[in-house]
Amino acid sequence: MPELPEVEVTRRGLLSDLPGRLVTAVRCGRLRLRAPLPAALLRSHIAGQRITTIDRRAKYLLFRMESGAVLVAHLGMTGKFGVMTADAPAHKHDHLVLMLDNGLEVRYNDSRRFGSIVVWPAGRAMELEREFSAREGIEPFSPQFNGRALQRLAAGRTAPVKALIMNSRLVSGIGNIYANEMLFAARIDPEMPAGALTLRQWNRLVRAGVDILARAIEAGGSTVADFLSASGHPGYFQLQHHVYGRDGQPCRRCGQNVTKTVLAGRSTYSCRRCQPPGPAGAADPALLAPASRRKKET
Ligand SMILES: [Zn+2]
Repeated sequence: MPELPEVEVTRRGLLSDLPGRLVTAVRCGRLRLRAPLPAALLRSHIAGQRITTIDRRAKYLLFRMESGAVLVAHLGMTGKFGVMTADAPAHKHDHLVLMLDNGLEVRYNDSRRFGSIVVWPAGRAMELEREFSAREGIEPFSPQFNGRALQRLAAGRTAPVKALIMNSRLVSGIGNIYANEMLFAARIDPEMPAGALTLRQWNRLVRAGVDILARAIEAGGSTVADFLSASGHPGYFQLQHHVYGRDGQPCRRCGQNVTKTVLAGRSTYSCRRCQPPGPAGAADPALLAPASRRKKET
């Protein structure tokens, strides 16, 4: 499933071609995505408009039009955007095509159809964007993503820190892979109750998170050329994972085997030696989870 870095890589890929281009026409497939495609709104508010820029909020891409209208796209599980020439062969799962004034087309391909395409008409776009943005969590690359802010968000919460950073209403765009990797890099036990982390631990987690996400975007940047190729199927990068998917293999830092547990329904990978439960200096030892809460996956 695309996480924040994949969405940001997509945005950067699209930014090299789309700003300034006129959408001459829109073609919608017959199948519905998570919801039916808003064909009428696409024709009346996106067709005939010039694209000014593409922004990202959480895991959504916002294609901004000169009129103020916005096409909002979420990639779901398997969604991909590609830019290609109009004569490139169509793919089976192309659901939306924006034809451009320079002979290129933007195609949205999504085999599992969990993605979504929404249009905010010019007159209501600002209001709809405010409501949308208020529902999403802190952006990891914004100044609001800092140790103190996260500690405030977590105050009194007994939910595991991993669940908190993956809660998209609190923090944007961090899925299971990056949550596991961030916690390892910050040497924090994923099961530690969020409210028990010290400011020092939150600061470490913020630094590790920004660093890992930035490196993933950079690594993905190298595939932007493929992404824009006529195939329309980006070559996804894979960052070298330290713990994710590595259960039973030696920790890259200390050599002890990486352990897999299930936490809030998600596979959780950690090194018990590098990420000891309840590290010294926790704000409130009473909040620390007993080791017996760990559930070994069978
Ligand atoms: Zn280790």
